[in-house]
Amino acid sequence: MDRDEYLERLGATTDESADLFEHFEQRSFDGRTYHVLSDARHGLERGTVIVEDADAVVRGYPSIPRLLVLEPGVQSFFEDHETVVVEEKLDGFNVRLADIGEPLAFTRSGYVCPYTTARARKLLSLEAFFDEYPEQVLCAELIGPETPYTATDYEGVDTHDFRVFGVRDRESGDPLSVADRRAICETYDFNQPRLFGRAPPESAAELVRDTIAELDAAGREGVVMKSETGDAMVKYTTEAQHHGELAYAFSLPFDHGRDFVFSRLIREAFQAAEFDEDEDRLQARAHDLGESILVPMVEAIQDVDDGETIGHRHTVRGDVGSIDALFDHLHDQSMTLEIEADRREDGQRVVEFVKVAESSRDRITYYLEGGTRTE
Ligand code: ATP
Repeated sequence: MDRDEYLERLGATTDESADLFEHFEQRSFDGRTYHVLSDARHGLERGTVIVEDADAVVRGYPSIPRLLVLEPGVQSFFEDHETVVVEEKLDGFNVRLADIGEPLAFTRSGYVCPYTTARARKLLSLEAFFDEYPEQVLCAELIGPETPYTATDYEGVDTHDFRVFGVRDRESGDPLSVADRRAICETYDFNQPRLFGRAPPESAAELVRDTIAELDAAGREGVVMKSETGDAMVKYTTEAQHHGELAYAFSLPFDHGRDFVFSRLIREAFQAAEFDEDEDRLQARAHDLGESILVPMVEAIQDVDDGETIGHRHTVRGDVGSIDALFDHLHDQSMTLEIEADRREDGQRVVEFVKVAESSRDRITYYLEGGTRTE
């Protein structure tokens, strides 16, 4: 690989190719080799990929900062002349679909996911899109109860589906404007996240506040606010999401880092300070918060005590080949998996499995057997 040439094409903030390429890992998929930046470095996003045999670069999806307060947050974040577009933030996992000789789905960290690749080829008209836009990447969320990485329910999605929230230049990462992207997605029948409206920065906080109240009542995740050009993005999430994520983390208390938990508590505190004007509202939030921490943790302890496997449960559905490839891929990532059901439905293979949470299982077992804890 001509590292100097790729350094220039990537537009990294270092002049030394060795400084950048020491952070790239070599991986392979279907006999093809590709190189992945495993962490954000030198101005490049985590998950940036180089596929040498196709002379292709696929930039990583940028990290989206978060606001903790809407006022004055929204107005300070966007330039005065910009229009702020408010879109739903969906809770699934991020994939980039690019045509590298064939359409491939890259996860956020830059793995080619065989399962998502197969599902995207089946569910989206990728050939037609890439015929017209070969140099673009579709940025999408795979959502629904049946995916190998997340399991959030969405009304009308029985198994899983894609929602396209970005179309970007594959090599530079430059986005299409929100209006252009939404129009193109409509042409190809790609589903998209719901759009709640547009507003100038000085009144966008109000629009977001109303939207968040509606989404919170429906138990949904939150919003991403975008400048109409697509260049600036910032996110804000609901109370329901904070509690849901705490419940998720505390259902496997020794597998999720303390940073994960602390950051959710901080979000909650700033939201409560901004929104919960009366004491009753704050008390109700505090009650729900406590429940989402304690109840799943106690359930995990009881489950281990009863000899049950604890971990994240997933269901996947697809053709036999893509399910086999998915399990090879998950095993390559050193996960311990337990298959709970494996059946055929309408010619497809459906597998229910648990990603076993070994740290939580082992620590809980140790304490239940009377082990001591040094604090
Ligand atoms: P970070 O963005 O800081 O890397 P993260 O990986 O933890 O954080 P999230 O907090 O889930 O990600 O927020 C960003 C992600 O939200 C995006 O990467 C994308 O997958 C997802 N997302 C869902 N809906 C949208 C949307 N409408 N627009 C943009 N991103 C969306």
